[in-house]
Amino acid sequence: MEVFYNSTRNSGIRVKASEAILKGLSDDGGLFVPERIPALDRELKELAGMTYREVAYEVMKLYLTDFTEEELKGCIARAYDGKFDTEVIAPLVSADGAYYLELFHGATIAFKDMALSILPHLMIAAAKKNHVENEIVILTATSGDTGKAALAGFAGVEGTKIIVFYPKDGVSPIQEKQMVTQKGDNTYVVGIHGNFDDAQTGVKKIFADKELAGRMDAQGFQFSSANSINIGRLVPQIVYYVYAYARLLAEGKMEEGGRMNVVVPTGNFGNILAAFYAKNMGLPIGKLICASNENKVLYDFFRTGIYDKNREFVLTSSPSMDILISSNLERLVYRLAGNDAGKNAELMKALSGDGKYVITEEMRAGLGDFYGNYASGEETAETIKALYEKTGYVLDTHTAVASCVYRKYVEETGDKTPAVIASTASPFKFTRSVMNAIDGKYDKMTDFELVDELSSLANVKVPRAIEEIRTAPVVHDHICEKDGMKKTVEDFLGLA
Ligand SMILES: *Cc1c(COP(=O)(O)O)cnc(C)c1O
Repeated sequence: MEVFYNSTRNSGIRVKASEAILKGLSDDGGLFVPERIPALDRELKELAGMTYREVAYEVMKLYLTDFTEEELKGCIARAYDGKFDTEVIAPLVSADGAYYLELFHGATIAFKDMALSILPHLMIAAAKKNHVENEIVILTATSGDTGKAALAGFAGVEGTKIIVFYPKDGVSPIQEKQMVTQKGDNTYVVGIHGNFDDAQTGVKKIFADKELAGRMDAQGFQFSSANSINIGRLVPQIVYYVYAYARLLAEGKMEEGGRMNVVVPTGNFGNILAAFYAKNMGLPIGKLICASNENKVLYDFFRTGIYDKNREFVLTSSPSMDILISSNLERLVYRLAGNDAGKNAELMKALSGDGKYVITEEMRAGLGDFYGNYASGEETAETIKALYEKTGYVLDTHTAVASCVYRKYVEETGDKTPAVIASTASPFKFTRSVMNAIDGKYDKMTDFELVDELSSLANVKVPRAIEEIRTAPVVHDHICEKDGMKKTVEDFLGLA
């Protein structure tokens, strides 16, 4: 049965999957959501015998219903190939009573690769299908990891250009080096004087600019988004939760029908929303444990029903989660409101006006699947050190936030349901924070000395993504103010 997509802010809008992927964001500023969440149509024990690619097809075919089998399988095969440094794509590693689902084996060693290695292929297929002749301009704001993963995915892809804005002082040195060394004539990387929310707000404004869109169209361009608001990012993320469950079954760690809890280090709420969709497809997930760093807007929201971004923005050791406006939460809020676009639009208007909204008691009652908590910088560092000393396994800072929150959850509830922790980045991506957590003596070393030290200490080979940037020349050095983003885009496209 075909699945259509509605806007969270206007129920009159109803588009096919390929159109939703091309547009990214609905014209009214809403996010595209599937009209209904499809149910898994395979037995879990059948899935247990499948490869990652096969599971990907079984999940994605249910959402991207206007893609043919051949198109979808082609996209999957081109995405999940030798770019990943392991055949299994997303290994499940057991350490100290939890399962870590390693989502960082792709080109840029963070979980964004899981979706961004397939999005360009979905987009090209969608453009063909919809007879789009304009060149597609991907416009992205990044807190560090999306940027590089999107650049790697779109670089050199014919018929596309990609522009990435990142907070100049808000990403790790390795993240920045990864982006500014990106090759490809169709890539453009800009640091802004501002934080991630400034970058994201700027990008949303440019998307909503009808006058600019008109001029672009006249020149043969149209925007799309690779941010996690694009349904073409959300859907591929559902796959690995299904795959993780299938692996637990296959390895005899779980009885069929048994439940697993899922723990997700959260920023923009995309990754955990994918787990929520997986649960609603019938995957036996118990609790969805939402882990925040000190920017704990989501923890407060789950506790009080009040979403309030009016607070100090904290730069933490888990920068990819330094976010005060979790865009994908809108999809959950819409659902909590009974798929009432009018009600959701009102709340989102309050968010952009007052920076705050309050959901009703009735809506709060729908939050029972979730548990929220947070970890301070100190707790995050202690978690890395303690797990390393106990098991030799080294976590990155984001995954450590999740690991710490999981420990708090078990202490509070006694719930011993097997837990899968989404391991969202390689420790090599945040080497300095990771090594400092293990021992203060590393502070004096250079970033690349630390990389080698981590490699010997964790007994893990330095990932290719890191080796590549050791000597790569810087090819992007654009900087702009947060109100200069539109002008930057116009210059790059030659529109001015
Ligand atoms: C993006 C990112 C997150 C947050 O994921 P969301 O889908 O935005 O919640 C967590 N960890 C890492 C390493 C990331 O790159």
